[in-house]
Amino acid sequence: MMLRKKAKNMTAEAFETLTKANRCDRCGAQAYVRVVLPTGGELYFCAHHNKAHEEKLRQAALRIHDESARVDEEAAL
Ligand SMILES: [Zn+2]
Repeated sequence: MMLRKKAKNMTAEAFETLTKANRCDRCGAQAYVRVVLPTGGELYFCAHHNKAHEEKLRQAALRIHDESARVDEEAAL
């Protein structure tokens, strides 16, 4: 199910929305966070693992695309 939401934090950068095809690199759950590394690599995390690794990710990442705010909405459906 695709939820089109009012963009509450629009940024200038158009970033591809994460889909159910994006799975957490740690546990295989649906990913809500994409971490872009300076090397060009990308990591995906579910909300749980994003929190677990948040500090390290912030230091290592070039950019972080975080859609974890959607978790609660989708869980409520
Ligand atoms: Zn995970």
